[in-house]
Amino acid sequence: MKLQRSPLQLSLLYLIVAALWILCSDALLLWLGLDREALAHYQTFKGFAFVLITGLVLYAALAQHRSQQELAREALRSSEERLSLALDSADEGMWDWDMKSTRVFYSARYCELLGYRPEEFGADRDAWLGRLHPEDRHLAEERLRALIEDRTPYYESIFRIRHRDGNYRWLYSRGRLLLDDQGQPHRFIGTSSDITQRRADEDSLRQAAAVFDSTLEGVLVTDRDLHISHVNPAFTRITGYESKDVLGKSPSMFKSGRHDPAFYQSLWHALSTRGTWSGEIWNRRKNGEVFPMWQCIRSIHDENGHLSHYVAVFSDVSAIKHSQHELDFLAHHDPLTGLPNRLLFGERIEQALQRAKREGRRGALLLLDLDHFKIVNESLGHNTGDLLLKMIGERLGAAFGPDMTLARLGGDEYGVLCDDCAEAEQASQLALQTLDSLSQPFLLDDQPLFVGASIGISLYPDDGDSVEQLMRNADSALFRAKNSGRQTFSFYSQDMTQHALIRVRLESQLRLALEEGQLRVHYQPIHRLDDQRMIGAEALVRWQHPERGLVPPGEFIPVAEDSGLIGAIDAWVLEQACAQMCRWQAAGMSLEFIAVNVSSRLFGRGELDLRVERVLRETGLEPARLELEVTESAVMDNPERASELLTQLHKLGVRLAIDDFGTGYSSLARLKSLPVHKLKLDQSFVRGLPHDREDAAIARAVITLGQSLGLRVLAEGIETEEQAAYLREIGCVLGQGYWFGRPQPAEQLLAAQANA
Ligand code: C2E
Ligand code: MG
Ligand code: MG
Repeated sequence: MKLQRSPLQLSLLYLIVAALWILCSDALLLWLGLDREALAHYQTFKGFAFVLITGLVLYAALAQHRSQQELAREALRSSEERLSLALDSADEGMWDWDMKSTRVFYSARYCELLGYRPEEFGADRDAWLGRLHPEDRHLAEERLRALIEDRTPYYESIFRIRHRDGNYRWLYSRGRLLLDDQGQPHRFIGTSSDITQRRADEDSLRQAAAVFDSTLEGVLVTDRDLHISHVNPAFTRITGYESKDVLGKSPSMFKSGRHDPAFYQSLWHALSTRGTWSGEIWNRRKNGEVFPMWQCIRSIHDENGHLSHYVAVFSDVSAIKHSQHELDFLAHHDPLTGLPNRLLFGERIEQALQRAKREGRRGALLLLDLDHFKIVNESLGHNTGDLLLKMIGERLGAAFGPDMTLARLGGDEYGVLCDDCAEAEQASQLALQTLDSLSQPFLLDDQPLFVGASIGISLYPDDGDSVEQLMRNADSALFRAKNSGRQTFSFYSQDMTQHALIRVRLESQLRLALEEGQLRVHYQPIHRLDDQRMIGAEALVRWQHPERGLVPPGEFIPVAEDSGLIGAIDAWVLEQACAQMCRWQAAGMSLEFIAVNVSSRLFGRGELDLRVERVLRETGLEPARLELEVTESAVMDNPERASELLTQLHKLGVRLAIDDFGTGYSSLARLKSLPVHKLKLDQSFVRGLPHDREDAAIARAVITLGQSLGLRVLAEGIETEEQAAYLREIGCVLGQGYWFGRPQPAEQLLAAQANA
């Protein structure tokens, strides 16, 4: 039997059944055959039977009702338990407000969220409202009022509620307003959770995002496979790449090519072992420009400790580098002229000294001081003085070129470092060139201004092997130059100054000599050793000095070579000699050839063959009558160049002789390939003949060499008959020397020839 009906229905049913039993039971029993007496007798029994049956029915009904209730209670308990577990696991507290009163049920978890036990928390609306943060209270009341008035079914809010410990917690609440049959709110129920931590996390995320967006440093994030996943605005500003250009790509797209594989290897090694790397790295911007950046890379791991991302934070340090560079420039340069200052000059000298030590080089240090510069400052003012100093710096800079260091050492003092100055002559040339370059006036406000200077020179390594010593010595040389009348230079070593001054004087006199025709050509006869017939002559230059008389070439050829005058001298001698040879031929002299010396300095220049060709053409001399003498060292110093030039000369048809043979270091292989006709055995090997065994051995060797290469051999410097006879004996064909005849003017040679 199911007790689905209401208790009233059940009671009415019972009344009907009981009434029917009272009214009808007797008639039913009589009808069943019971007599009236027995009926009266069984009345009591009948009453008990009714009570028994109805009692049993009532029992059955109640038992079923009870078991149904048990089931329902059980279902309710388990559903409540489930709800409570669900709320607990979601960390949610529950509240349930009976709106007809101010009573509110707060779940144990809700109270716990705020640090209370349920019995301590209170069970009305004010337990919640009273704990709201004062700033939130007004809003909370507003929201409640709106909820009730507008009957909004769903409610959501975030407010701060005071915890038992006095701090406020952010509670996130969601609830539902339930209305009764009349549509009046009667229950407001919902859950709350503590989101204080989440709010804090969100706050820090928001702050991190703001930092990410606004930091001046570029930030780049990649996943563990090095695919770019985030970049910030500074990244775009620095590299020029928008995020859409780079997302999903690899950071290797920024490589500049400036670093070798070892650099990247050490970077990855640091990242994998220490989880971080920082350092300077050169990358490429979108516009192709390569720039330095300071970069920190860090690897990021997830909660399980697996590598998940890399984050790179970098700043563009090109501006810093640039300003470092500028600072460096300022520290090492004179602000007025832009030239290196004393500090940098000292560093350059130091480097030059070390190089000189390593490579056995020699160099010179020149200190230049303007003469009477004080007067310029005092009379024309410091601005004009500064302008003049600047102009002087520019003019000197143009005079020296980039391979020398010109510095302004302060005031009116300049320094010049020439780290390739093998000879003192070069230094004196340089000093002269410097004084020369200042000799032209400077135009200041269209007014010409003449500046004089004095120069002190120290040479290294001879005059010192430290910066201080060289500077000190150059300074004392400068002092001497100033004292000796200014507008001049002086070496630290007095001998050198003397020597240099003589050379300088010689050079200017030589220039004059060339212009004024003070040079002469003398001719020395060349004889066959067998029949002693004169078959040629060598043209040798002389200088008819107005005061010193005849100056031999040994004194002025080196000066001419250093000053560049040699080209003009040799050209002049060549013209004279060729013209003379033509005249001799015209006079019936049977000479095979005329020999002319060619300086080794002309070997480096290309135009020698053109010049020879021109002279031959102009004089009309047969090329085969001209013999050009080049020294052995000139040939062997630059064999390729010499071979080229000799071949060109050979093509002209002229003959070629190697002068001073035996004093240089000939390569026999090279010698074999050169188009030469003659070897001139140097007179130093003839001098000791025939008694000096070494000289004799060398003479024999050269003669044999000449014979085997098919070259004629001429012995120079034969002064005695004995020497001539000996040389003839050992196979030498030609000879030249005082014994045959000294170098002499053409007319004398002709006369001597006629007399012979
Ligand atoms: P060189 O070409 O080897 O000339 C031979 C030198 O030996 C000449 O000296 C000559 O006077 C000298 N001499 C000749 N016979 C004897 C002798 O028996 N004993 C001694 N002790 N000396 C003798 P010089 O004329 O003083 O010339 C010296 C060097 O100057 C020449 O050596 C040549 O290299 C160079 N030279 C002369 N004239 C010119 C020229 O026009 N141009 C060039 N570039 N160099 C020239
Ligand atoms: Mg010669
Ligand atoms: Mg010689």
